[in-house]
Amino acid sequence: MPTTQHKDTRSQHAIKLEERHGAHNYHPLPVVLERGEGVNLWDVEGKHYYDFLSAYSAVNQGHCHPKIVGALTEQAKKLTLTSRAFYNDVLGEFEEYITGYFGYDKVLPMNTGAEAVETAMKLARKWGYTVKGIPRGQARIVMCSGNFHGRTITIVSASTDPDARGDYGPFTPGIDVIPYDNIPALQRALEHPHVAAFLVEPIQGEAGVMVPHDGYLKMAYEACRERNVLFMADEIQTGIARTGKLLACDHEGVRPDVLILGKALSGGVLPISAVLADDAVMLTIRPGQHGSTFGGNPIAGRVGIAALQVVKDERLAENAAKLGEVFRKSMQKLVDEFGFVKLVRGKGLLNAVVIEPRKDGRTAWDLCLILARHGLLAKPTHGDIIRFAPPLVMNREQLDECIAIIHDSVKAFA
Ligand code: PLP
Repeated sequence: MPTTQHKDTRSQHAIKLEERHGAHNYHPLPVVLERGEGVNLWDVEGKHYYDFLSAYSAVNQGHCHPKIVGALTEQAKKLTLTSRAFYNDVLGEFEEYITGYFGYDKVLPMNTGAEAVETAMKLARKWGYTVKGIPRGQARIVMCSGNFHGRTITIVSASTDPDARGDYGPFTPGIDVIPYDNIPALQRALEHPHVAAFLVEPIQGEAGVMVPHDGYLKMAYEACRERNVLFMADEIQTGIARTGKLLACDHEGVRPDVLILGKALSGGVLPISAVLADDAVMLTIRPGQHGSTFGGNPIAGRVGIAALQVVKDERLAENAAKLGEVFRKSMQKLVDEFGFVKLVRGKGLLNAVVIEPRKDGRTAWDLCLILARHGLLAKPTHGDIIRFAPPLVMNREQLDECIAIIHDSVKAFA
């Protein structure tokens, strides 16, 4: 008897390979992407999607932006990496450009977001001992519950997420965790004389786009200033135009003492992160005391300049502010129309919709599967939250089409 052999689709094949050979530290939606351009993605079967995650806000400038990819390929043909044992002809230019762009004396380039956060924490301790005069070994850094700053042992030492921390102890000491968006709690924590820094996300992205009350950042900054404590903003997700301003801190006119950037600093073409600060803080780290093989490599320098130029040239902050208003208004209509859509919150094009899980057990994950079927990719988190963060190069017509897709998907889910 001839047997008919079932052949996997290309998607099924790719998913099986990852399942079989990769660590199981992610749980992706069953979509296998092959190509991207601007706000668009295509899977291996040729199906088109609108991207509403932007690689966790790393592709604010859109997928494969020709100017950024051009900078990458041109530099890659010339010189990729020399290490910081020598000078290269790009790094200084990048450093001049980025410090002028954000208004700081100095920059320290790294690669991933987590490395930049670690750098900021080391900088805070160094400054605490050498400038503030904290007794050696006793510096403290204040951080917030619900935070997400990355995955290293020190960073998860500050996490309140059981998945992020579970079984990874012993943890790094010297971290005090206080409630987010709570000025009295911050003031109490800052009474300790050994606090070197307060490290905060201006909006907590991974926690589900938690937007603090108006004035929180300003009051937190002032509380830090009063106590001679560094105000360090992790703008890895909120920065580079995502929330409708160049930095989320700009909404409140706050200039962090230490600014941490990553993700969209490369437009998503390679890992580039950076810590910016003025001399009084940055120059506390001396030669040999911190570094990275790839940090500040010539490709990153060229890509970083191009990625930041695109943000300005294409007025992405203004676009994010404008489209964000339209998006939240239309999501509010969904809240009014469907009882289980509880609320929408966010700033610029960093938004989340909270839905009540259905009685039959279906959650935000199931709604995201429907959205994907309808051609829109978004990320569920914490069971009841969907983050909506498209590339900032989206236009009004595309946004309207996406809003219609979300409406139809919510209707199908209901
Ligand atoms: N900080 C924030 C606010 C983030 O959102 C992230 C990543 O999602 C990180 C840090 C860590 O960045 P990376 O994954 O590049 O290490």
